[in-house]
Amino acid sequence: MNRKLGFIGLGNMGLPMSINLLKANNEVYGFDTNVEAVELFTEAGGIGLASAKDVAMQCDVIMTSLPTPQIVEMVYLSKEGIIHHAKKGALLIDFSTVNPDLNDSLHKEASTLGLRYLGAPVSGGVIGAVNATLTIMVGGDKDDYDSASEIFGIVGKKIYHLGLSSSVGTRLKLLNNLMIGFYTEAVAETIVLGEKMGIDTDTLYEVLSNSYGQSRIYERNYEEYIKNNNYTPGFSTNLLLKDLKLAKGMADEAGVSLRIGEKLVDLYSEIAQQGYGDNDMSAAYLSLKDTCKIKQL
Ligand code: NAD
Repeated sequence: MNRKLGFIGLGNMGLPMSINLLKANNEVYGFDTNVEAVELFTEAGGIGLASAKDVAMQCDVIMTSLPTPQIVEMVYLSKEGIIHHAKKGALLIDFSTVNPDLNDSLHKEASTLGLRYLGAPVSGGVIGAVNATLTIMVGGDKDDYDSASEIFGIVGKKIYHLGLSSSVGTRLKLLNNLMIGFYTEAVAETIVLGEKMGIDTDTLYEVLSNSYGQSRIYERNYEEYIKNNNYTPGFSTNLLLKDLKLAKGMADEAGVSLRIGEKLVDLYSEIAQQGYGDNDMSAAYLSLKDTCKIKQL
């Protein structure tokens, strides 16, 4: 690709995604407020810059993978933000999970200034980011989608252009994460109760993996985290909580009552307050053990 690529937000997802762009022989300019993240990026061959503004000024395609809608809004719209410093015609791709209204307002603002914008949240976790097997849920103009397809093909595997509205991918992504919220707590409750019944956790996993109780989240949470007693995120409880709040906001606007979904917001708030906010979401299992005062594995 002879376009200069920029990547802002080199965290659990953004770092491996940007490294895959580097491995595909692209020139990639990056920025993160965390110096260590920038170091890892430059060690992999990326060019670290001092601010989001610098990335915007240098690059033809500017990608973001940032934690919260508030941060995304600041990085795009503040005085030093991307939108005010990107070159005319630049393509902005937001991989973050935000609220749908934010995608729409960024798209509108970008268009007014002669920039192009796609809302492109991803699913597949850190493993998917590392292995370039992410599912990407894209909303925005077809021409812009087409001009990003090479990039999407490098960082992901299943790419969906879901419509011309830049928020349509986010709406779908929030539905995905609503289910993740259910399953993560289901996994925690099932394993803790199974242990209490004297059932070996590996046996439980093996049998349920061959039964309808199985889910991709059981596989992820058990195989990658619970089994190894390692809760370094992955996808943190705080990020899941953010997405469940966003899903609830979407449901409220649509007049849909999420009978259990809204309880999940309270549940993961409690789990975060117990001290598991920065742990991987699979720590719901540890939280339940705390609540039941059961000794850890
Ligand atoms: P993360 O917290 O690991 O990474 C975010 C990065 O953004 C951090 O390195 C942080 O230092 C950086 N950052 C924060 N403020 C910044 C700013 N103002 N300017 C530049 N950089 C800044 O989060 P993550 O897990 O990589 O998630 C990123 C996004 O992707 C989130 O919206 C999340 O919901 C979504 N997501 C995450 C996963 C996952 O499994 N982790 C999966 C799918 C989608």
